Amino acid sequence: MTTVLHLQPFTLVKTIVFIFLLTGAYSCKKDKSTDESCQKWEYEGVTGPDHWMSLCDDYAECSGIFQSPVNLTAALPDPALKAIAFNYSDLETEIEFNGHTIEFETKKGNCTLNLNGTSYKLQQFHFHTHSEHAVDGTFAGMEMHLVHEDAAGNRVVVGVLFEEGAENAFLSRFMDHLPNKTTTKHSSSDEYNPAEVFPSNRSYFTYPGSLTTPPCTQNVIWFVLENPVEASAEQIGVFEATMHENFRPVRPLQERAIRHFEE
Ligand SMILES: [Zn+2]
Repeated sequence: MTTVLHLQPFTLVKTIVFIFLLTGAYSCKKDKSTDESCQKWEYEGVTGPDHWMSLCDDYAECSGIFQSPVNLTAALPDPALKAIAFNYSDLETEIEFNGHTIEFETKKGNCTLNLNGTSYKLQQFHFHTHSEHAVDGTFAGMEMHLVHEDAAGNRVVVGVLFEEGAENAFLSRFMDHLPNKTTTKHSSSDEYNPAEVFPSNRSYFTYPGSLTTPPCTQNVIWFVLENPVEASAEQIGVFEATMHENFRPVRPLQERAIRHFEE
């Protein structure tokens, strides 16, 4: 006879419920990126990208085999792919420099995209200088990431590449009040549609990957728009002056295929 059989049925149920709760609490904790016991990560030195996986148990996924960003090369045209089904409308955002990036968090509004019947809501968008993804080995001056989540927390991130050129009208809305300190937040009731930033041709590369910052969670479907948009050197310079070099080096593609949709 095992110990379990000595337990009264009610005690057994309670034990099972308790174990369930423990497991649930553990997996919630696993998805948080702000565990106080974690050492602060940076983009260089002993807390840089080569060491993220060692800074915290919750960052172990940073050494996984489905990591982002990657060099987008040898993409396979896939006729089964469709245009990204954006369902964007006006929203209000709060802008914050969080110590790593300038982030625009959705305050009001509902921008979604639909992928295979699932709705993913735009949570925030932010920037990297220079770009994190490369196209055939070439980086762009800046990359914007629009982060969408479904009800279960799965993510779809859309990447927009900025190359140096004409002033960007979308960015111009914000240049006068971009935060430049960790503690500064800019909140306003200005409404705008973030779809304004997209290039007219929305051909894209897609592949399965991860968040490009700790905890490097591997639950991201990436869509990087192939055609860059332009921004002036001055505009990119303003972002870079605050964020510095906040790009993670490209990760090995491993066994993944990059698929290409041509509009
Ligand atoms: Zn990003």
